[in-house]
Amino acid sequence: MPTTRDVTGALCLGGVRLSDLVAASEIQTPSYVYDVDAMANDACELKSAFDGRAHLVAYAVKANTAGPVVRAFAEVGCGADVVSGGEMLVALGCGIAPDAIVFSGVAKGDEEIDRAILVGDRGIGAIQIESIEEIARVDARAKAAGRIARVSLRMNPGVDIEDLDTHANIATGHDEAKFGVPNVDTAFALEALRGSPHVALQGVGAHVGSQFTSVDPYVQGARTVFEMARSVIAAGFALKFVDAGGGFGIDYGKGCPVRPADFVRAARDEQVKAGLGDLALYVEPGRALVGAHGVLLARVIQTKTTRALATPRRWVIIDAGMNDLLRPALYQAHHRIVPLAATTTGRADEIAFRVVGPVCESSDDFGEHVLPAAIAAGDAVALVDAGAYGFTMASRYNGRALPAEVFLRGGRVAQIRPRKPVADWVDDRVF
Ligand SMILES: *Cc1c(COP(=O)(O)O)cnc(C)c1O
Repeated sequence: MPTTRDVTGALCLGGVRLSDLVAASEIQTPSYVYDVDAMANDACELKSAFDGRAHLVAYAVKANTAGPVVRAFAEVGCGADVVSGGEMLVALGCGIAPDAIVFSGVAKGDEEIDRAILVGDRGIGAIQIESIEEIARVDARAKAAGRIARVSLRMNPGVDIEDLDTHANIATGHDEAKFGVPNVDTAFALEALRGSPHVALQGVGAHVGSQFTSVDPYVQGARTVFEMARSVIAAGFALKFVDAGGGFGIDYGKGCPVRPADFVRAARDEQVKAGLGDLALYVEPGRALVGAHGVLLARVIQTKTTRALATPRRWVIIDAGMNDLLRPALYQAHHRIVPLAATTTGRADEIAFRVVGPVCESSDDFGEHVLPAAIAAGDAVALVDAGAYGFTMASRYNGRALPAEVFLRGGRVAQIRPRKPVADWVDDRVF
């Protein structure tokens, strides 16, 4: 469940009153708080949409790399989609089997490829090939390791970016993007695979983009993947899976009428129509499993009013900045900001504020938000829907500490990863 209000009007997440959390001395702001049970439940709901057919829900670890989160997905039977050797180690360390890991990325280092080939008895489930040039590299590393590397072909389906109802920076499956093997080059990729005895093709896939709020662009991408899979099979390759990628959207306030399971059912229908119903269907959701189940807690440092304007501009400056939550600065994303306390004053006493962070950048700006007129220094607020691409994109820019993370399970705090002190950063710089 995303945040709710209890009978007293206080903001809750995962059955915990967030104002009680910030009152607890061990939890400072800014701090991320996650409802881990809700994340695991969403993964289970998604798995049930496959109706018992062969599948893999490869959780896209980059959305939220925290151990308690990845472990919860491992426990309910998810695999992982990783984009670096570091993420691969997190997935393995959290109990995801090598077989259930797929590794994407346009520029994997030799060390990363070696690790993917050497882990377990047979290496990871699939290294997702993103260029024809990469095939020879993986083949050479596998040969040197004395193994056969399992790979899949990540294609770029060439979905027209104008048709994508998403931000250009999170659209990946169009002709101009650096990702994947362009579908027009399939024949060349197959020729390279035939000449590479140390790689074994397992699947064909794509990841078209992110934050889709309708199934149409997803199905359009999946259809292209399935067409390509058919031509790969016709060319004599035996595939084990097709991978429709991630990108399931969530409701950031503008609505998202489709559930993650809807994307799966739509892709599954298309897969059967393409005559590929016997292959396992892989999906790679990140945001949809974690986004709505995390908040970033912050406190007001001070308010500020620009008085000489005809309409005075009212600012609220909080202790969380773009270094803690980059999405507004990077993607012009809007995260709703709500007070933790019950708002007893009623809506008449609420006015529009511009909420900004402390970082010395004009883009450190969370946008316009209607908040109680009496909001004051020390008041706590929550930036909601911050469970995905929040902490994982956090930086120490401006010499700031990385935010803490609090993990809720069973209606209580299960684990806390404290803030790293600023002194650590100072030591790292004064060397
Ligand atoms: C980021 C990514 C995903 C997940 O995208 P979401 O929009 O978070 O679902 C899936 N697959 C690949 C290859 C990715 O890079």
